[in-house]
Amino acid sequence: MKDPSEITCSDCGKSYQPDLTTGLGGGCPHCLAQLLAQDTVEDGAGNQARTPLMAGDTLGGMEILEPLARGGMGVVYKARQPKLNRVVAVKVIDAKLAGIPEFTQRFEREARALAVLNHPHVVQVFDFGHEADLCYLVMEWVDGTSLREILAAGHLSPDDALRYVPQICDALEYAHAQGVVHRDIKPENILIDRQGQLKIADFGIARMRGEDGSGPDFVTRAGQMMGTPHYMAPEQQKHTERVDHRADLYSLGVVFYEMLTGELPLGRFPNPSQRVKVDVTLDEVVLKTLEHDPNRRYQRASEIKQALTAPAASTAPAPVSPQLAPAPAAPSHSIPPITGLAWWSLACAILSLVVLWEMTRAWVISPEHLDRRFFSGDVFTVVLRPLSITAGVLAW
Ligand code: ADP
Ligand code: MG
Repeated sequence: MKDPSEITCSDCGKSYQPDLTTGLGGGCPHCLAQLLAQDTVEDGAGNQARTPLMAGDTLGGMEILEPLARGGMGVVYKARQPKLNRVVAVKVIDAKLAGIPEFTQRFEREARALAVLNHPHVVQVFDFGHEADLCYLVMEWVDGTSLREILAAGHLSPDDALRYVPQICDALEYAHAQGVVHRDIKPENILIDRQGQLKIADFGIARMRGEDGSGPDFVTRAGQMMGTPHYMAPEQQKHTERVDHRADLYSLGVVFYEMLTGELPLGRFPNPSQRVKVDVTLDEVVLKTLEHDPNRRYQRASEIKQALTAPAASTAPAPVSPQLAPAPAAPSHSIPPITGLAWWSLACAILSLVVLWEMTRAWVISPEHLDRRFFSGDVFTVVLRPLSITAGVLAW
């Protein structure tokens, strides 16, 4: 029987205990073992090429310890930097990308810009370089796992989501203020260390890959798949070159929704409070973050954090408490919540209209009989009929 704490790898389909590989940066141990054993990969032309590095190799003065994961651009290794006696993560770019001169130029330019980012919730870039036809990026090593692994294991509560989202907001607010847009916020790029500290990886990497429309799309050219479009803002899916920082805020909204509900907000999706036990005020924050029109979204990451830290925002379900500021515009793509109070107001409104209609009708048809109709006990016309009409409308 399958252990309920096990998760199924989306790549190889085998089940595994997520805790097993925590020290290796998370991931499926079967795939990791295969990666370790493997010493060749297929290049874009279908030829077998040696994997960039094996445990024990050195690169840029760093000793490769073990591969952590294979990403869209290459392999991420855990390595030791003897000079500073610290463990680092090294992303070694696939040879097929590193062989494109325009890519290497862009890689250097972007790496230089990323190295400037220094924030507790952003994976720090320490260094970058070229050696033996390889491009590499040296980063802070995060001893933990990715949000994707945590979500897949079903280990995330709405309270955890409320703890993590403000950390993402801090990181985005900081990077956006430095003029850096992430462009690929998704659970795979959100790492969580053993202390529960969140770190965003891959800042600006989408730009490096050429997915911002400002140059050649290297990843597609190299025959690799781009990431899932589910986290991309609508404007990013249409015009990658016109994207600004608000695209990151939309992606954060998708991640937030997924953290709360375990599902993606696809099509006409229900509000989070309709899926899980959370306060309806959280719906407003999530829906405003997911606005299709960037002008109707929150304009800064700090506004999302502020809305979440307002007293009304908590995961505990509560009666209607619209204390969040500012009140969001009704989202164009989701069903607004109808509360109990709203149903009562609707019932009273219909009832009043029907009574008014009956009185007017009685007056117009036979004003002289108004008193008789009303006060001589024409109960069905004045009371029962409006009530039955109201009940009918509500039932419908
Ligand atoms: P990609 O190019 O595919 O986006 P990523 O940089 O996202 O590659 O890395 C893929 C995986 O490698 C991540 O999901 C994470 O598990 C691991 N990883 C990446 N960077 C680090 C890091 N700094 N510390 C620990 N693990 C990392
Ligand atoms: Mg990534």
